[in-house]
Parts: sequence; C-alpha cells; structure tokens
Amino acid sequence: MRAIAIDFETANEQRWSPCAVGLAWIEDGAVARRAYRLIRPPEMRFAPGNVRVHGIRPVDVEGEPDFLAVMDEFWPDLTGTLILAHNAPFDIGVICATLARYGRAVPDLAYLCTRDIARRAWPGEPSFGLAAMAARIGLSFRHHHAEHDAYACAKVALAAAQDHGTNRISVLADRLALLRRSSAGWTRPVETSRRTAPPPRPGRDPLVFAVAGSSGARYEVRGSFSGHGFRLRCDCMAGRFGSRCKHVTALLDGEVTNLVSDNHYDVEKLRVIVEALGLDAVQPPEKARRAA
Ligand SMILES: [Zn+2]
Repeated sequence: MRAIAIDFETANEQRWSPCAVGLAWIEDGAVARRAYRLIRPPEMRFAPGNVRVHGIRPVDVEGEPDFLAVMDEFWPDLTGTLILAHNAPFDIGVICATLARYGRAVPDLAYLCTRDIARRAWPGEPSFGLAAMAARIGLSFRHHHAEHDAYACAKVALAAAQDHGTNRISVLADRLALLRRSSAGWTRPVETSRRTAPPPRPGRDPLVFAVAGSSGARYEVRGSFSGHGFRLRCDCMAGRFGSRCKHVTALLDGEVTNLVSDNHYDVEKLRVIVEALGLDAVQPPEKARRAA
C-alpha cells in the first residue's frame, strides 16, 4: 500500500474553507512526488488569524479552481491508499466538511495521524507539533505552507517507520494500531491489531494558547486534563475570577482571529477533545467550582 501525506490550509475557522492543499506521495520508503494547489474556498471570508498563519489572501485564490475541481485530480490516488496528516482530524475534517458543503458523499478513507505516530514512536518529547517533530528528524521546512507541511509529515512518518525497522508505512500503521477510517467516525482511532496497547487518550498534552485581548494585552489560555475532565483556564481578569471569559468562549467556538500563538491547529484538537468529552466536562476554574 502506498501512502500519501496531505495538508490543508483554511481561510477561516470553518473546516469547509480550504484555500490550499499540499500532498507528498510515499513510495518504497521515500517521498516520490509532491504537489501544491491553491483552492478558491466556497466563501471568500479570510480570518486575520488564518492569514497570519499561512499568508494566503483572497486575491491569491479568487482565480483558482474550487475544492471539487482541485481534488478531482487527486481522488484516484487518495482512495484506496493510506492517507497521512499531522493532526489528521483537522485535515480529514476539511475533506469531510468541504465535500458535505458541496453536497457530496464522503469516501471511505483510511488515514493515520502522524502526531499519534510520533507520540507513540518517541514518547517523552516535550511537544509533538510538526515543527518540533521536523526539528527532531533534522528537517528544515517552511511551516504552514501546505506542500512543505505535507512533505514534513511524510518525513516524520518515514523516520518513525525506520525506528520500527520498516520502510513501509502500512507496517508501521499495523504495529502501532493507529489506523482510522473516515467511515468509522473520523475523530476516533480504530484498532487494526490486538497485539498492541489501545491508542493514547486524545490531547494528553496540555494545550496552551496565547490570545490578544481587546486592549492589546496578551493572555494565556491553558487546557489540560484533570481528574474531573478537561479544564480550560485563562489568565485574564475574568478567567482568574473564575468566569468562562470571552477568550475561552472564542476558542471553544473555533474562533482563531485573536489567536497569536502559532498553533491554530490545536484549536481543532480542542474541538475534538470537547466533542469527545462533551461540553459539560469542560471544567470552569477551581475557584468557580468552590464558589458554586
Ligand atoms: Zn480570558
């Protein structure tokens, strides 16, 4: 089985707003081909936070083909192969949400998240972000350029496979039991093997977001698992007094306009965690619970 790494950039916080796609084909243990296409999203609304991350503006894509036209070229390769993405729920989510937006059925895609792979292959790393993983394998790349991200993702998978004594991503997928399918609910891993341990809890690492407040001050929102569920804390005045402040609310809404840390993909991860645990499990700060 071949493998293809894929990465999308989006125009705004909606997953159905792809404005660029990058792909990297893996064959015989090496990256054999790369591709990059700009995409005209269904709506020409570009959130400043997204533009800050990827640098793509409306004028760059207004003359480009839409998602369906761009992806027509790639479906024959993507269906029936193994898809890789770093933070795969985001990229597979882009595919599913955009197809749904255009009224198209979602194909059954087999995919692997290279963040899951990295976490399993190299436990103990302080961060499993793509930049950290690329640095770990000695790869310099242009982060948040879809083609570069797809290439880095492919190289991370190949390095992890090599550490497991194989150059075949499908063998690695089987050993780590991390294969997922779009038809099986695209946020949850499915077991491919009984030999290995179940996949780690999603989002075991704390999520840290820096956000710009309306006065220009910078606040930190930190999300972490606790014995009671998942907790989000903001160090703004309202957050310290135990309210669910507007910064937390914005992140829970997937709003990245005021996000100044370089991790808008973690907003999607936050969404996946909240989706998995339910909003009720998102704990207000300790103070609020004591007061209640
Ligand atoms: Zn706040």
